[in-house]
Amino acid sequence: MFGKVSAPHKLIRLISSATHAVPKLADVLIVGGGPAGLTLAAAIKSSPKLNQLSTVLVDASDLKGKVASFYNSPPDNYTNRVISLTPPSRRFLEERAGVSLMNDRIQVYDGLYVTEGCSDATLDMEKDSMACMIEILNVQSSLLKRLDQLSPDPNTFKIIDNTKVSGIELNDPYDAKSWPLVTLDNGEVYKTRLLVGADGFNSPVRKFSRIPSRGWSYNAFGVVATMKLEYPPYKIRGWQRFLPTGPIAHLPLPGENATLVWSCTERLSKLLTSITPEQFTALINAAFVLEDADMKFYYKQLEDKTISTKELSEDINFRIEQVFSSSEDENMIDEKYPPKVQGILPDTRARFPLKLSHADTYCSERIALVGDAAHTTHPLAGQGLNMGQGDVEALVDALEIAVSRGSDIGSLLSLQSFWADRYPINNLLLGMVDKLNKIYGTDYAPIVALRSFGINVINNVPPLKNLIRDTLGESGR
Ligand SMILES: Cc1cc2nc3c(=O)[nH]c(=O)nc-3n(C[C@H](O)[C@H](O)[C@H](O)COP(=O)(O)OP(=O)(O)OC[C@H]3O[C@@H](n4cnc5c(N)ncnc54)[C@H](O)[C@@H]3O)c2cc1C
Repeated sequence: MFGKVSAPHKLIRLISSATHAVPKLADVLIVGGGPAGLTLAAAIKSSPKLNQLSTVLVDASDLKGKVASFYNSPPDNYTNRVISLTPPSRRFLEERAGVSLMNDRIQVYDGLYVTEGCSDATLDMEKDSMACMIEILNVQSSLLKRLDQLSPDPNTFKIIDNTKVSGIELNDPYDAKSWPLVTLDNGEVYKTRLLVGADGFNSPVRKFSRIPSRGWSYNAFGVVATMKLEYPPYKIRGWQRFLPTGPIAHLPLPGENATLVWSCTERLSKLLTSITPEQFTALINAAFVLEDADMKFYYKQLEDKTISTKELSEDINFRIEQVFSSSEDENMIDEKYPPKVQGILPDTRARFPLKLSHADTYCSERIALVGDAAHTTHPLAGQGLNMGQGDVEALVDALEIAVSRGSDIGSLLSLQSFWADRYPINNLLLGMVDKLNKIYGTDYAPIVALRSFGINVINNVPPLKNLIRDTLGESGR
């Protein structure tokens, strides 16, 4: 389904009730308090060169209530939106945005064991502290805590949450360089020198700015869940297996917890989110060990409702035991397969549509886009937010240079270095991830043979393997 994800949109009109409100002024107005938008706010307020810029962050969700409370009273269980954060992304958060993350809820991991669902090909990427698994709520609430601790002057920093941006237009519609006027659904209107879209895939700011975004839907979903393991892993690492329906990843959280991202077809995602937790748990265990033919058999039986939970679990356990007992080297079992899943935590199963998108540029006069507003990617390489954090860092650098030179922070001239810095690397990563997804999305025998050969070659040529490992582990900036 090639084509544009979103065409350049018409100017979003101000809602009529607010046309008479007197606009307030802001140097920077950030739309979106997801991890990218909050990181930008904390980095601006932590920067000696930028902290005097009057900054406003607007978000539709309950940031100051629900999201912030995660830091002060975290739940016992791990939440289901967990991401892999690379060391450069974490460094930026901790060192330049000055954030103290909730370390006891983070799991650093030492590599990824990647296998192929249609052959025995393996890519074993070991690296101490390759990346860490962290809940998105940990990132967001720690950033809110940091912003609270900085206690910026209310005249120079403000979070407006539970509020949507309902309209954006140019102060002077005949002057493309005029300041954007941003209308909120609480009736307030802001006139801003720089408008930042950190507002996710459907970015109203991108639409307003008429920046085209290209890409496609993968017609696939990422099913996530938090898993309780039967025993802690022998090595703290992630496991990913490429099944013909999409990759399944098992990534570590502290103790006997782990997080699941099972990318699959829409049909399978519906099944996985509708079966009982026990059936789902049995399928997760099966997916890392058994053959595709077995998996197809179970999917069919579950769709037709011709197998009971007891029969399914017993059959899967029996077949897994058969595979383990026929293994030539018993010590390799803990290496090749993730620890068995005991169950999934209540209310953690969910599915998200997967897509690729890339904006043609990340800036225009008085506009900058960061994070998912600029690009979205398949989660198989854990790069989405890492690319977003890299954007934020590059934008902060560009703003610092502009302020040092006494330039206008909203001018295209000031913003261009940010986009020039980020576009090529993001484009490369988006392309790499997309090709990987395509190469692995088939069980056509000649392709399976070719890719298995390729994987085995890479696994046995350390410089090649390290290049892939480092590209994934060093993204950010
Ligand atoms: C299954 C899955 C697994 C993933 N795993 C990883 C991983 O391992 N590593 C990784 O780096 N990335 C991963 N990602 C990607 C990552 O989750 C995203 O890249 C990241 O969350 C995007 O953050 P963001 O701040 O750019 O956007 P968002 O989190 O989408 O935030 C956008 C914000 O804008 C606000 N907003 C939107 N419109 C308006 C409006 N009109 N008015 C006011 N507010 C508005 C929304 O309320 C929201 O808070 C994964 C994604 C998926 C789906």
